[in-house]
Amino acid sequence: MEPDTALRKAAQILADARRIVAFTGAGISTESGIPDFRSDSGIWNKYDPNDFLFQKFIAFHKNRKLYWERSKEFYEPILKAQPNAGHKALVRLEQMEKLDCVVTQNIDGLHQRAGHGEGRVIELHGTVATASCLKCGKQWPAADIRKRIVEEAPGVSDGVPYCSEPDPDGPEGMCGGPIKTDTISFGQSMPEKETAEAFARARNADCCLVVGSSLVVQPACFIPVEAKDRGASLIIVNREPTPMDAMADVVIHGSAGESLNRMLDYVLS
Ligand code: NAD
Repeated sequence: MEPDTALRKAAQILADARRIVAFTGAGISTESGIPDFRSDSGIWNKYDPNDFLFQKFIAFHKNRKLYWERSKEFYEPILKAQPNAGHKALVRLEQMEKLDCVVTQNIDGLHQRAGHGEGRVIELHGTVATASCLKCGKQWPAADIRKRIVEEAPGVSDGVPYCSEPDPDGPEGMCGGPIKTDTISFGQSMPEKETAEAFARARNADCCLVVGSSLVVQPACFIPVEAKDRGASLIIVNREPTPMDAMADVVIHGSAGESLNRMLDYVLS
């Protein structure tokens, strides 16, 4: 299909829809300067994903050290990032009273900062905004933990933060549990409430609009499948082909910001 024909067809689907579930991945945030994971310049071309398995984080100090080192490199662009034209286009869809919700695999908080209403963004893979002790559950703003690492404050060992909450039975009277950002690593359980909510919204959707996802991370990638199986139209906007292109009603191989805004301009024309 010619690119402009595909954009017009997608616009027609959006024009007819009333309960759109947008399903987003790292690709919607690359235009904000945050690298994705699987493009040529993505993070997994630099690191081995196996080193970041949750089970290894739990078991080995060396993997926790690698996690917090990579985290510094990965989170710096996130801290500087601003919502881009793609994030704002989804807010426009909400203002047009067509968007039910955004289900995002992203952890950068940019959808919320773009201006969606309360409860409209479901974070499937957590957030970089907070960090928690995996032993006692105490939670902090992640910025406080990063500051603690830089200052090598109590509880920090070799660049790795451990919980310093009082615990008479713990090492040196502290809890001592490993601290991790509240993001979901490979091998870690998905958040139950958000996952159930996302699948329920997908079942109720009349259109699923996928933006910037390689659609290979499970079980998140089954959300568009669930929507399609229940009768929703499926639109995929991604720079590269995905394994689910064949089941989509329209596939647009282009940049998220430009494609979404051109689609919305057609809807309004
Ligand atoms: P992914 O890296 O597997 O795939 C991103 C896809 O987006 C690629 O297919 C790429 O071609 C496409 N893409 C990149 N820039 C684009 C653009 N400007 N316009 C359109 N398409 C573009 O990402 P994923 O599917 O989200 O899965 C990876 C996991 O990575 C997720 O669980 C997520 O938590 C995590 N992640 C999040 C962020 C973030 O929060 N910004 C960044 C990196 C990774």
